[in-house]
Amino acid sequence: MEDFDVVVVGYGPTGGVLGHLLGLCGIRTLVLEREAAPYPLPRAIVFDDEIMRVFQWIGIADDLEPLTAAHPGMRFVDRNGELLLDWPRSLEVGPQGWRSNYRFYQPDLERLLRDKMAARPTVEVRTRADVFFLEDEEDCVHLRYEDTANGRIRRVRAKYVVGCDGARSLVRRFIESPMEDLGFHERWLVVDVVLKREMPELGDYSVQFCDPDRPMTYVRGPKRRRRWEMKVPPDVDGAVLTAPAEVWKRLSRWITPEDGEIERAAVYIFHSLVASEWRKGRLLIAGDAAHQTPPFMGQGMCTGLRDAANLGWKLARAVRTGDEALLESYQSERHPNAVEYIKTAVHLGSIINMAGSHDEVRAALANRSGSGKMESIRPSLGPGLGVGPHAGRLFGQPLLADGRRMDMTIGHEFVLVVDAALADAVPLPEGLAVVATHNAPDVQTHLDRFSTRAALLRPDRFILGTANTPPELAITLGRLPSSTRWVTREPRNIQ
Ligand SMILES: Cc1cc2nc3c(=O)[nH]c(=O)nc-3n(C[C@H](O)[C@H](O)[C@H](O)COP(=O)(O)OP(=O)(O)OC[C@H]3O[C@@H](n4cnc5c(N)ncnc54)[C@H](O)[C@@H]3O)c2cc1C
Repeated sequence: MEDFDVVVVGYGPTGGVLGHLLGLCGIRTLVLEREAAPYPLPRAIVFDDEIMRVFQWIGIADDLEPLTAAHPGMRFVDRNGELLLDWPRSLEVGPQGWRSNYRFYQPDLERLLRDKMAARPTVEVRTRADVFFLEDEEDCVHLRYEDTANGRIRRVRAKYVVGCDGARSLVRRFIESPMEDLGFHERWLVVDVVLKREMPELGDYSVQFCDPDRPMTYVRGPKRRRRWEMKVPPDVDGAVLTAPAEVWKRLSRWITPEDGEIERAAVYIFHSLVASEWRKGRLLIAGDAAHQTPPFMGQGMCTGLRDAANLGWKLARAVRTGDEALLESYQSERHPNAVEYIKTAVHLGSIINMAGSHDEVRAALANRSGSGKMESIRPSLGPGLGVGPHAGRLFGQPLLADGRRMDMTIGHEFVLVVDAALADAVPLPEGLAVVATHNAPDVQTHLDRFSTRAALLRPDRFILGTANTPPELAITLGRLPSSTRWVTREPRNIQ
């Protein structure tokens, strides 16, 4: 029987990113995917700076960025097109080292994830591999899949199995996790169009049409791609709506068949669901397998990639050392964070459906979403590894003296970002990566965002703890695992 450290079930964005992160740590990983090729049509269309930083980490950001389009923000308008609220997004590079949002074409991402997997010698990918059986034997997991190219049944053994196998997850069923229902279930028609000519009059902003009779969303994709999403009333047969004549009728306010071609028109049911159990023994789930959100925040895939970034280094540690303590924090940190994003998306959905005055709609928007800026929406992790007021918040990415971003130089390991004078006052553990105010030009600005003199960051760049005095720093450093350099075999990423 073949043995692996980790089997990842599903090669969508979550499984792909997790495969890369495990590969970066030198973990023997098998990725099993039922389909022969990646899903050819776009679903996710936007992602944020936190996720671009994860892409930087796995070495695909520089190739992906030229394929993306800038995202100037979102506008909420009433049924007559009158502006209710403007949420501009800065097009400048922000604290994460990237712009706050990007529009993209999901098949581009899936292709890059696959192309770059060749740079991960410890990761093997098998497609046409339909997983149908799992058994947790306490010290390992037995897994069976069908090679659908020839009908043969294959057996493999792994220390851990992670289900990145989407909304209908098989691994979730083996975990026997029920789903918590956050109350949103609506059918929406999603239409992707490729324009035949430039049409600047359509605008670059995403637009939410807050119209209780016809809630709608318009999103500009990269190049000539444009998307419209329209709520399907309960009494309407969804199949009727996807007929081309029907689609063009609904788009006639903006474009005609002369202007573009329909790439896809499909009715989706948008759910708001979260699994109650993300781990049972050696089985774990991540991505859509663990949660589903309506797409109004553009956060479904992003939430799954946050799972992967949180889990990858913890799993690597568990495989290396046999110590599962870090895995205990996976669900406790990720579940509340995912729930917050989903609740905000559900709230936005209810506003788009809302029959209220302008002031009521504005008040409802301000209620949950503040200024709409990613930094203000971004919730922290739930309780887990860190301590103190900023534990579980995502830290920025300082520039180093050579002009490179921090994560380019410091790989999958803990790092102390610190005021040089404070660092001099405390003996630092040998081997700990340090970025201090004297060797990096904008460290002070990053520390000031948290009003702190030192931030100890985990390999995923979330704050483990902060400190303002030498005794506080000594206590914070005491929370480091015994060896700080245990995760990465390949200290630099491949970019
Ligand atoms: C209309 C729409 C718009 C969206 N917009 C956005 C957006 O703008 N931003 C955003 O962040 N997200 C968005 N999303 C959500 C995003 O597309 C999903 O959250 C994301 O694709 C989920 O990725 P995943 O890897 O977790 O699951 P999936 O992409 O579903 O991948 C799961 C994989 O597992 C495989 N699999 C399943 N079972 C097995 C098995 N038994 N054996 C082997 N393989 C198996 C499947 O074939 C599949 O390839 C949108 C979704 C929709 C529908």
